Amino acid sequence: MQDFLEAINSGASGEDIAAIPIPESFRAAFVKRDETDMFEGLESWEKDPRKSVHVEDVATPELAPDEVYVAVMASSINFNTVWTSIFEPLPTFGFLDRLGKESVWGKRHDLDYHVIGSDGSGVVVQTGSAVRNWKVGDRVVMHCNHVDDQDPSAHNDSMQAANQRIWGFETNFGGLADLTVVKANQLMPKPTHLTWEESAVNALCASTSYRMLVSDNSASMKQGQSVLIWGATGGLGGYAVQLVLNGGGTPVGVVSSPEKAELLNQLGCEAVIDRKAEDFQFWSDPHTQDEGEWRRFGKRIRSMIGEDVDIVFEHPGRQTMGASVFAAKRGGTVVTCAATSGYMIEYDNRHLWMKLKRIVSSHFANYEEAWAMNKLIDQGAIQPILSAVYDLDQVGEAANQVHHNLHEGKLGVMCLANEGEGITDMEKRERIGVEKIEMFRNHASKLENA
Ligand code: NAP
Repeated sequence: MQDFLEAINSGASGEDIAAIPIPESFRAAFVKRDETDMFEGLESWEKDPRKSVHVEDVATPELAPDEVYVAVMASSINFNTVWTSIFEPLPTFGFLDRLGKESVWGKRHDLDYHVIGSDGSGVVVQTGSAVRNWKVGDRVVMHCNHVDDQDPSAHNDSMQAANQRIWGFETNFGGLADLTVVKANQLMPKPTHLTWEESAVNALCASTSYRMLVSDNSASMKQGQSVLIWGATGGLGGYAVQLVLNGGGTPVGVVSSPEKAELLNQLGCEAVIDRKAEDFQFWSDPHTQDEGEWRRFGKRIRSMIGEDVDIVFEHPGRQTMGASVFAAKRGGTVVTCAATSGYMIEYDNRHLWMKLKRIVSSHFANYEEAWAMNKLIDQGAIQPILSAVYDLDQVGEAANQVHHNLHEGKLGVMCLANEGEGITDMEKRERIGVEKIEMFRNHASKLENA
């Protein structure tokens, strides 16, 4: 794989890159099937990704006609990396078993190890015989929507496809590796003004936020609307805040520390709630929610922006959903894509129906939505929210940081590239503003040095 890196860094042509043989094995981060019960009896927070994630060489899979091999320059940690590595809510090997039964190409995925990772930037190093729009040498980012385009259910909105999967979570050969196999319809052009690591962290969270907020498939935010954003400096929230500001709207960001509140202000979000400092406790015991706390929360929002929010951007789940349904305005929308704190949800249905609110579900993004979001990043209208980078060997440590909410924004992972490489349009980077591009990174460095 080092030959690929040297060729890419020396500006070799696609033809030269194509002449380099694909290695029989490559370095990858994976979990093992025979270790899925290693955390049995432990609480979630005690399950340690540093114990379950291994980084070693694995065999290179064969390439299907509609796929490409990508030399991965950088990747990122997503919350699904955490779920896979703590084997919650279920070990991901069940997904691989089912994919293995679907087709001869699906069978390749059904292995005793699962190479994880659902984001990445890199260079196409080989194309399958049916690939038309991409060629060897193309610099790309990869989105994680894995669909079978010969399935009719995939052709209105591919997120509705019966066999839609998330690459590197519900499929094998994910992005946390030096080489990956993706379908050609997962590729998008790499933003020219970003480093490999800045490019690698966006596709999953940014596209998810785009579909949740902007797309007609979900909340369909209009210009000037107000949006309550939980985890507003987290992976999803950091992009959601930027999308709301781009739409002339008012984000109300919820975070859990003064440092995160400061970062939100820097990002341009003025209405901020520090849920820890203000001690919001929506459950008075594990079985009872405290409606008084919902009301205190609603009042707090109104005290800042003068009204209830049009949209609630929801993902913490059990801990917050009751408050989210309460906080949305009459006729407002709660859009949800996750349930980090628990998926058995409770809310007071009277607040939903009497005030004609709606709850809308959302999940990742179709190719068109992911492409639209990538274009906003390429134009410099949305910035990457990379706050720190780790080596591929440290994936377990990086996942542990996210598991325990010790991070801001996104954590990048260096695969083949060295930090700072990959920018091909420095003039554009300077025009967009290096300070803006590196805001999360600089904030994290400042905290580390304080
Ligand atoms: P993240 O980077 O960890 O950010 C989530 C933020 O949510 C945290 O930083 C935290 O912010 C806040 N949070 C966590 N627990 C909370 C609680 N009990 N109450 C209130 N706030 C809480 O994660 P992410 O990448 O944004 O992902 C968030 C969730 O969405 C995960 O469950 C992930 O699996 C899911 N997800 C789903 C999709 C999809 O396509 N369906 C895509 C991406 C992610 P503060 O501590 O600052 O408040």
